Order: sequence, then C-alpha cells, then structure tokens
Amino acid sequence: MPQGAVCPLCPRDPSAWSSAPERPGAWHPQRVVCAAHACDAELPNGKRFADVVHGVPSLDSPGLPYLLNPVRVGGVAAWATFAANGWYLLAEMGDDAFDAVLRSDAYWLDTLWPLAVHAERFDSGPALAAMHAFSAAAGADALQRVLELARAQHRRDHYRDALRRLGKPCADSIDEAHEIAAEVETRLAAEGEGSVDELLARIRSLAQLARSRLGAIEETWAIDFDCDLPMQALRARLAEHTGWPWLARDSDRLGDYTSSSRAGMLFKIYDEHGSGNGPGYTLALARTIYCASSRAHADEVGKGLITALGGRSPRPGRIGDWR
Ligand SMILES: [Zn+2]
Repeated sequence: MPQGAVCPLCPRDPSAWSSAPERPGAWHPQRVVCAAHACDAELPNGKRFADVVHGVPSLDSPGLPYLLNPVRVGGVAAWATFAANGWYLLAEMGDDAFDAVLRSDAYWLDTLWPLAVHAERFDSGPALAAMHAFSAAAGADALQRVLELARAQHRRDHYRDALRRLGKPCADSIDEAHEIAAEVETRLAAEGEGSVDELLARIRSLAQLARSRLGAIEETWAIDFDCDLPMQALRARLAEHTGWPWLARDSDRLGDYTSSSRAGMLFKIYDEHGSGNGPGYTLALARTIYCASSRAHADEVGKGLITALGGRSPRPGRIGDWR
C-alpha cells in the first residue's frame, strides 16, 4: 500500500484528521483498499481476486493490470495494481488500471503538466521537430517521461484489443493471463515503437488529455511585488531555490514570463505592464482540483517564493483570465 494512502472502506479515525498536518503542495492521498478489505474483492467474472493471484510465484507481467481488472469490493470499484511482485487495489476513478494511476500518482501527474503547457508544440510540423521543440521548452527529462507514457498507453491498447477479441471482461485465471500476455508482448516486440508519426499521434492525444485534466482550475489569485532581478535571473533563482522546473514562456499579453507547477498548484510570474523585467511583478497562483493544499497554504508557498527572490512589498494583485 503506497505511503499516506487511505482505505475508502475503513471507518476514519477522527483523531487522524487533526493530527495529520496539511502539507503545502501535497497531492490528494491515494485511495487504496486495505489488506483486510482487499480479501473480498471480486473480478467481473465473479471470482475472488485474492484466490486468482494466491500463491502465484511471479506477478511482474506488464499485462496483469489490464487482464485482471476491474475489481469490486464493498460497493467500491477499484483497480488491481501490481508492484514489487505484490499487489494492491487502487480505488480511484479511471477508464482502466493505467488511467486510474495516471489520475492519482504524483509521478504521472507531474509528467502530464509540461505536456499540458506545451501541447501546441505537437500541433504541427514533422514529428521529430515537434519532439525536439518540446524537449527544448520543457526539458529532456519531460520528453523521456512523455515517451514512457506513450509506450504505456500503446501497451494498454494492445491488451484492451486482446480481451475484446476474446470477448471477455478479464482473464479467468493467472495461467490464461500469462498466455494472453505472452501473445501481446510478442506482438508488441515485433511492432517495435511503430512509426514516428504513429508516436506523434499518440503524444497528441495525450496532450489533449493532459490539457483537459490539468486545466481544471478551482481558484486563482495574485500577489504583486517588486524585485530588481530581470526575468531570466529571476527564473534561475526560482529553479535553484525550489528545485522545480521553471519554464521560460511568452505570450502576447504577458510578454516573457515563467511558470511552474507543483502538486496541483500552478505558479506564474510576469511583468504585464513594464518591460517584462520588473521591478513591478505579479505572482499569479492557481489551485487545480488535484491540489490538496488549502488556499492559505498555497499562498504561503507563493510568499516563500517572493522572499527567495528578495522581493519587496507583497500586496494583493489582480488577475484576469488564467490563460
Ligand atoms: Zn479498509
């Protein structure tokens, strides 16, 4: 069970709420069915999930999350997730096991964000040029993660097709799951990455997904402040202070500006009315629906950024349309 996860079926201990301090910049804790409740989970074919995987020596097949899902327990829908040769049941919404992970796992949420911001890099042009442009804007690591995501989706599609051809909602046994997996993996290996244009098409659809997921902003506000650093130095200082990627961006309205995202919070710093290089700056903040931090905590994080910049006279600012 991942650290900090909560079981949706266990009664909550009220003292756990007050004693657990709210951490600034925390994603919502994942909902994971505890081991005691997980015993009763059933697959769509009516079999007990725990029986199907009981005593199986190896659970590290990449196909199992697609072949042994979804499960239901105590009226809750969940997704069997396999890790370190064990399993747990993730009770998050999603179209399939991978989608459920994509919606709730910090690694994947942080992967989707630069893709949402730079989605337009993939709108046109030859595939390799688009990937190069994305890498230049968001960083080589961001591109690697996006390619990893595209590969995972490709694999998911193959498993979905395999079950559809068999006319089954899930595999009936671990042996059958291993048989289907062997066939799908052989097919995937023969196909390789596919053409670079196919890869681009996959990345485009992921970029649309990222945009719609992370565009769900709950509230926005702004803090005006003064700072003597020009934009480029300001961005370098923020990256050094936070260790987060701060993107160099520009728009007609804001000129050169920088933005970053952490745990469902979005930050944007610009000089809307001046040269783009201060000294009058605006820090715009947003909380997306994925952010577990209160506005007060996000505000605290924002004020910490201004302090790190040697900023002066923070005061409430005005913010227009977030985009
Ligand atoms: Zn429980």
